[in-house]
Amino acid sequence: MAHIITQVCCNDGACVDVCPVQCIRPRPGDPQYSTAEQLYIDPKACIDCGVCQEACPVGAIYADYDLPAEFDEYREINAAHFAADPILDWSLRPLPDDARSVDEGRLRVAIVGSGPSACYAAAELIGIAGVEVSIFERLPTPFGLVRSGVAPDHQQTKRVADQFGEVLSHPSVRCYFNVEVGRDVSLAEILEHHHAVIYAGGAKSDRQLGIPGEHLPGSHSAREFVAWYNGHPDQAGRTYDLSSRRAVIIGNGNVALDVARVLARPAGRYATTDLADHALDALDRSMIRDVVVAARRGAHEAAYTTSELLALRQLEDVTVVSRADEVRIDDQRLSAACDAAIGPIARRKRDLVAAMADAPVASDGRSISLRYMLSPLEIHGSERVEAVSFARSRLMLKNGALALEPTNAVETIETRLVIRAAGYRGQPVPGFPFDQARGVIPNRAGRVWDRDADAPFAGLYCAGWIKRGPSGLIGTNRVCSRETVAALLEDFATERLARAIRPAADFDALMGGRCASVDAQAWRRIDGAERAAGARRNRPRTKFVRVEDMLASASGDAG
Ligand code: NAP
Repeated sequence: MAHIITQVCCNDGACVDVCPVQCIRPRPGDPQYSTAEQLYIDPKACIDCGVCQEACPVGAIYADYDLPAEFDEYREINAAHFAADPILDWSLRPLPDDARSVDEGRLRVAIVGSGPSACYAAAELIGIAGVEVSIFERLPTPFGLVRSGVAPDHQQTKRVADQFGEVLSHPSVRCYFNVEVGRDVSLAEILEHHHAVIYAGGAKSDRQLGIPGEHLPGSHSAREFVAWYNGHPDQAGRTYDLSSRRAVIIGNGNVALDVARVLARPAGRYATTDLADHALDALDRSMIRDVVVAARRGAHEAAYTTSELLALRQLEDVTVVSRADEVRIDDQRLSAACDAAIGPIARRKRDLVAAMADAPVASDGRSISLRYMLSPLEIHGSERVEAVSFARSRLMLKNGALALEPTNAVETIETRLVIRAAGYRGQPVPGFPFDQARGVIPNRAGRVWDRDADAPFAGLYCAGWIKRGPSGLIGTNRVCSRETVAALLEDFATERLARAIRPAADFDALMGGRCASVDAQAWRRIDGAERAAGARRNRPRTKFVRVEDMLASASGDAG
């Protein structure tokens, strides 16, 4: 018997920390960790103690005998991870020494942002007695992409917010929500009252396609579309034209699949989720039945994770279909070269997609078409989007190596809705240096780096997507933030953060005169009101989508 990690694994490594026989891989710090699709349990080494199951923040781990039928394949997926690289030494690992403390008031840290990387950084810091943490968030509600990014049909993933909520309510944490750093308070003012600042505000923009027509009406970034259906106040007022039968999504990551499901499934499937009401109404009237997801590379190079691909197959009302000529390789030499060149995860993804080849779709049916080797050329339309054209590539052998080669063939797909899901991108942050090429704050292990002086900026740190780029699952941020906090604590221990700062009470007084700041207690009132409104309709919550309504609820004035 063994325990098995399944679809919603968030990669935060909490299970690794507690596993007494260290049979979970990859571990934070292992070279494959940052790119791992999920974590895996070695069935030969697992002693079935169930401690990992309790530690998992998203309920992704099951005992073998309790494994729901829809996760059957994860038995094999977990075991296969160890086929080539078995764990030979299952030695017990000593627990880390957490018994650290600092004198009260000696270390006060500000964190900008309240998404996963911010909450994980705060969690690390409050593990040290005496450290005080201030969290700044532009909106009255916390949790960043957990609230406005995670798909509404992935409610289990959002359970991690319960853990984050405990961090926000910790006595050493002060929350300043509805406060925009740079508008309501400056970085210099924060530094006058804190020894260090960790910027964890995420990636606020989009990777551009760089093709004509990219910004025609009807062509939208997935980041904004996702924020719209998740009720982010910045996007709630938007409207989308869902009147054509076909929508085209450009890009092939997990965000592309999230959007594909939302567009293709009947709106009723979301009625018991926290999908924003305005989006539920719009999707209910939607005429979209065929969603094309266009990848520029092959099925074995997809950016989505295996678990999200497997989950597509569970959709009851939607046929997921690929094209045999794009996913099957008839040439024996090419096929053998491909098998030799790609690893087991890529092979599984390709085989799963190949098994969907040319699946029949009823004429009135709903479908998601997974298309490959289509590089976007142009988005066409005189006043708005009418079609997208793609250059077709083909897989070939170049000097014995697998390569993708452009052909002269062009395919044009008609649509009124294009969603560009080519990835997120960081934006420059006032007061911090910026690496334009990578879209991140230049840093070393989270220390913000002055590349001219080749030295850190004292007291400035970063974590999350603005530190390492927009990749990884929610839990990947736990390890990222831990690295940043370790650097900060090292600087504290070596007195590189030693300087006089003004008392916390002065800062509260300063903020009090500036804006309607929302603290943890006030946020709990918003949270409670949303949950109560949701419960009346058999939903986890009904979100406020206007800042005014959130603030009224925070102050107890909501009706
Ligand atoms: P992503 O994983 O980086 O995928 C971006 C996609 O856009 C790739 O397929 C990429 O293709 C494509 N692309 C980039 N530039 C392009 C261009 N010029 N033309 C055509 N295609 C282009 O980004 P994401 O989907 O936004 O996800 C961001 C992160 O959040 C990922 O780590 C993801 O796993 C995570 N996430 C996870 C979940 C989940 O666990 N359920 C849900 C949502 C997001 P190439 O590969 O060819 O570059």
